[in-house]
Amino acid sequence: MFVSRRLSLVLSQANKRQKFPRMFFMTQSASNDELIDALKRQKVVKHEDVERAMRSVDRGFYCPSNAYFDAPESIGYGATISAPHMHAYALELLRDQLKPGAKVLDVGSGSGYLTMCFAKMVGPNGKVVGIDHIPALVNSSIENVRRDCPEYLENGLIKLVAGDGRKGFLEEAPYDAIHVGAAAEEGVPPELIQQLSSGGRMVIPLGPTLAQALEQIDKDEKGYIHRKKLMEVAFVPLTDKNSQYPL
Ligand code: SAH
Repeated sequence: MFVSRRLSLVLSQANKRQKFPRMFFMTQSASNDELIDALKRQKVVKHEDVERAMRSVDRGFYCPSNAYFDAPESIGYGATISAPHMHAYALELLRDQLKPGAKVLDVGSGSGYLTMCFAKMVGPNGKVVGIDHIPALVNSSIENVRRDCPEYLENGLIKLVAGDGRKGFLEEAPYDAIHVGAAAEEGVPPELIQQLSSGGRMVIPLGPTLAQALEQIDKDEKGYIHRKKLMEVAFVPLTDKNSQYPL
């Protein structure tokens, strides 16, 4: 998962004016707190609960290099940890559902960073399941979480599993919030809609590479679905594991 399409266009225009093209020149902070300060100034982080969660999770545990830059970074296996501003958008969009005690499914959990932020939001009576289809990534996310907050694995607040996230994770369904960190080209997987609770919200990027939009999908108390397109984005595809990382 990368950055919002708007931002990447601005960056590519700016890069054209540079003598030496650079991949990114977004906020480059020296610490986690400085990074969150910058996201607050940019009004990407708006609410105190989101701010508190992001301050309490040091991105340094999850991101192999440039942890405090507002940019995505490779985590291997064809995956990236998303840019911090995209994580902040997701937390802001889901914050009404991320109440103490809530259940969350993080599809394409990658580094485990956002899974941990969700856990901070829902607290000790909640539950967050992170699912990724690359077992080696799941193992490294478990290591990341273990270095950060081992008790969340021990008490079951966080569960990180390997599997095809397009099928959701029925065992713990329904979920108050579902976040999908990879773009579904063929539309919203029906299992994810089924596993969303009434009053629940899903945030999911949809569409093919270069033409993706982030959508918010709400299931109301009667079970009706309401969809809203939010913005253009650029995520890695929600796909088969062999297409993402051929063995
Ligand atoms: N939220 C993660 C994003 C990682 S990139 C983070 O910020 O660290 C997207 C992730 O989706 C990758 O880790 C990739 O392995 C995973 N993915 C892609 N298709 C998938 C599928 N069908 N099922 C589960 N995970 C998938």
